[in-house]
Amino acid sequence: MHNLAGGDRLGSFSRVTFFDEFSRLPLAVLLRSATSASSASVRSSLASGVGSLSDFAALLSPAAGALLPELARRSQALTRQRFGRVIRLFAPLYLSNECINNCRYCGFSRDNPILRVTLSVADVVREARALGEQGFRNLLLVAGEHPRFVSNGYLAECIRALHAEVPSLSLEVGPMEAADYAPLVAAGAEGLVVYQETYDPIVYEAMHTAGPKRDFAWRMGTPERAYAAGFRRLGIGALYGLAAWRREALCVAAHAAYLLRHCWKAQVTISVPRLRPCAGEFQPLTSMSDRELVQLVCAFRLFLPDVGLVLSTREPAPLRDGLIPLGITLMSAGSHTEPGGYTGAGHDQTHLTQRGRIVPRAKGASEWAGTPDALTKATGQFEIADTRSAAEVSALIARLGYEPVWKDWDPALSSAFPAAQAESSQAAA
Ligand code: SF4
Repeated sequence: MHNLAGGDRLGSFSRVTFFDEFSRLPLAVLLRSATSASSASVRSSLASGVGSLSDFAALLSPAAGALLPELARRSQALTRQRFGRVIRLFAPLYLSNECINNCRYCGFSRDNPILRVTLSVADVVREARALGEQGFRNLLLVAGEHPRFVSNGYLAECIRALHAEVPSLSLEVGPMEAADYAPLVAAGAEGLVVYQETYDPIVYEAMHTAGPKRDFAWRMGTPERAYAAGFRRLGIGALYGLAAWRREALCVAAHAAYLLRHCWKAQVTISVPRLRPCAGEFQPLTSMSDRELVQLVCAFRLFLPDVGLVLSTREPAPLRDGLIPLGITLMSAGSHTEPGGYTGAGHDQTHLTQRGRIVPRAKGASEWAGTPDALTKATGQFEIADTRSAAEVSALIARLGYEPVWKDWDPALSSAFPAAQAESSQAAA
């Protein structure tokens, strides 16, 4: 039985979990507003300061879409007021593409015949140093879920090896119990990113056909367990292209609002990833236009003024550039989605797996497994759309009148945070 709320620290002051709140969300009513609010109710929500989930729902409506310039103007002003003219930069560093789950939309799915590898700690350091040479001081360590290859001990070793050189380390790995997160925080990790993927339980069940990720509630409780373990940054989001985007957005907003109330010592970020082509050739089930993505970013900003909004290289350069002044606060750049992508590290160690088993490499096993002449490079999770280098993105940010921020945290502060959080939790109990 999983402990949804995580360790005692969080459980002592948060008896109602987000899963409880989620189960009681009046989604049908909110969705009605999100799909059919009138211009008058959108204007009324804007005038009232977008203080409720009902106001947020109105901002997702087609009527609000027609008022996009007004939404964008307000979103820009609020973002500059709360964050200044800065964009934080980060890079994903893929440690492993081994995975025991089958998620139909992901290139790393267990059954996909792709080239896989788990980087050695020395190779992880090599990758991080290459990113450091590009300027990055904020890395997101990403791995598929595979307890044998990506154990807690391995993750702790990677974090310890990087901690002295990389001030800000976050994780996007398989969900764990709070007790299993604690050593990773102690080793120097400060952020945990976990997307619910879809907040629609029926779509969730259809998308996750094998592996521990099938447990919808367990995944939903992950940010709370991460907070209980001491992480100071929590990242959430939905993957747009699975369920209807307005429904997903309502649930993400409710989730973020819950975390701001109950995990209030942590910084909360929301990512807005849309599906990209990947191994397995999964096709999106729902659509979300560029204009709707812009509307969503503005709506998130107006409802959640202090939440960081994250944009990855899944989106093409012109759209990313246009979104910078509208509400985005954190961007990746120059990304690779395969282990060893920045230096070629580990490419001599790759193996082909089919339905979870290692098989001899065969010509043409999959276009995603590499060409016959290049059967060494590990397969990426998905195709990126913005292929510009970090230097190019950084220069563009500066040209737009914003400051690219490579570092906003020092590891010397990491050790003090869990203790401070524990104190505040006890005080709140
Ligand atoms: S989304 Fe995550 S858990 Fe699912 S297959 Fe991909 S790496 Fe594994």
